[in-house]
Amino acid sequence: MLGAAADPGHKMAHAPVQRLKTMKMHRVGIIGLGKITQDQHVPVIGASPSFELVAVASQRGLTVPGVPHAFTDYAELLRLADVDAVAVCTPPQVRHAIALDALEAGKHVLLEKPPTATVSELAHLERIADGRGLTLFATWHSQFNPAVDEAREFLASRTVRTMFVNWKEDVRRWHPGQKWIWRAGGFGVFDPGINALSIVTKILPEPIFVQRADLSFPANADAPIAAEIAFTGRGKDQSLRAEFDWRQTGPQTWEIEIETADGKRLQLSNGGSRLVVDGKLVVESTPEEYERIYERFDELVRTGASDVDAQPFQLVGDAFMLGRRTIVEPFHD
Ligand code: NAP
Repeated sequence: MLGAAADPGHKMAHAPVQRLKTMKMHRVGIIGLGKITQDQHVPVIGASPSFELVAVASQRGLTVPGVPHAFTDYAELLRLADVDAVAVCTPPQVRHAIALDALEAGKHVLLEKPPTATVSELAHLERIADGRGLTLFATWHSQFNPAVDEAREFLASRTVRTMFVNWKEDVRRWHPGQKWIWRAGGFGVFDPGINALSIVTKILPEPIFVQRADLSFPANADAPIAAEIAFTGRGKDQSLRAEFDWRQTGPQTWEIEIETADGKRLQLSNGGSRLVVDGKLVVESTPEEYERIYERFDELVRTGASDVDAQPFQLVGDAFMLGRRTIVEPFHD
């Protein structure tokens, strides 16, 4: 469906739209109109002072009211000269090929998380963007919480003694019918788990490394439904662990607990939006992750920079590399 802005017959009606367009700096297209596009990208771009949504590409032929261009083949979107940037919101398996085409068409690229199917693909995109002077932004939405920034600042001058990442949710509730998530390159429980790891790599003052991983694969899936990971850090006598599980019904858990060597106890909960230190609430905010993502994208494009943090993705890759596999009962949606 085409919106009124595409109708050339109403010149008077166009005046405010044209004024708005000149104020917005970047004309963006979205590839893949699934859940996260509809929940976040479309409304957030719509309210952004810096971005204007001018085109969408949907295999299923979905459209967005008021957006002038809609294609089923993303290659047609990339041929539009007035698209400066694209957000690639498909599943990760196909993202490298699409992002590569976009960069080669001269577009700045925003990648949903996890950015690609493999670490090498991400490094390749980074090189191509760099060589062409384009922005590549590998987003990690959970990093864009004020409580995460606060936790990073709090830990910057401290030594971490223990960390427990407890990330357990009901896959049937959050990913109904998503077949790609169970295929190779869909990452299974690491799809939400990598959000936790993106917080961890942002807030910890030192790098951590996967020491051991136990991965539970449903007998009928290529991706795990649960994972337990032990990490090593650079400090002595540290206990650093993560548990991800997609079989949790009832209350959902997205928490990170950290104890420091100077006896402080930090709890990040609600997916990184609430920070409590020693029992005292420090920050709790309503989610504005995608608003902040598009502010950052604007800044990156304006300054000619890229933001590609491969650390969370590398940890997932390492967990797959080192992980011991256990086959568990088949999963049916
Ligand atoms: P989704 O609802 O399954 O949507 C993905 C969309 O990508 C599909 O609906 C399809 O849209 C398009 N697509 C293009 N090529 C495809 C292919 N080969 N197979 C399947 N779909 C293809 O998934 P989603 O939840 O939006 O997640 C997309 C990405 O965003 C994932 O990497 C996920 O981790 C990330 N993310 C999701 C959430 C969330 O809450 N769901 C939150 C943050 C990040 P068209 O038919 O329109 O082309």
